[in-house]
Amino acid sequence: MEELKVQPIKEGTVIDHIASGTALKVLSILGLSKSPTATVSLLMNVPSKKYGKKDIVKIEARELKPKEVDKIALIAPNATINIIRNYKVKDKYKVKLSEIIIGIVRCSNPSCISNLREPVESKFSVISRKPLKLRCYYCERELTDIIENIVI
Ligand SMILES: [Zn+2]
Repeated sequence: MEELKVQPIKEGTVIDHIASGTALKVLSILGLSKSPTATVSLLMNVPSKKYGKKDIVKIEARELKPKEVDKIALIAPNATINIIRNYKVKDKYKVKLSEIIIGIVRCSNPSCISNLREPVESKFSVISRKPLKLRCYYCERELTDIIENIVI
């Protein structure tokens, strides 16, 4: 078992195996960097057997919605989500990037139908995973700045 260097949380979520330097982006896409009430611990550049260095984010008293997990998969494809209840890991799974990304990334083409009409949700196909490349289902524009276009 791996030892974590901050005190364990009672209830909440631990996002582990985030590439080092990416933890702040994870907080930002979850809207936690601006939340006045969230209790969040960050560990940055901690040693990892698998990846050399990694970041960890601990969020108290909050579990992630499926859409939030999908957002994390976009920027931290190796992340592991741990659900903590009563100080114990109750569930643990790896994020998984789907082939089709719906409603969580904005198309960078201002005249794309997904930007013009409210009921049309954005839809992207994953055309490459390393590096990550997405193509808009409607206007076929390839999205280069994925992190900047994640809907928060
Ligand atoms: Zn588009």
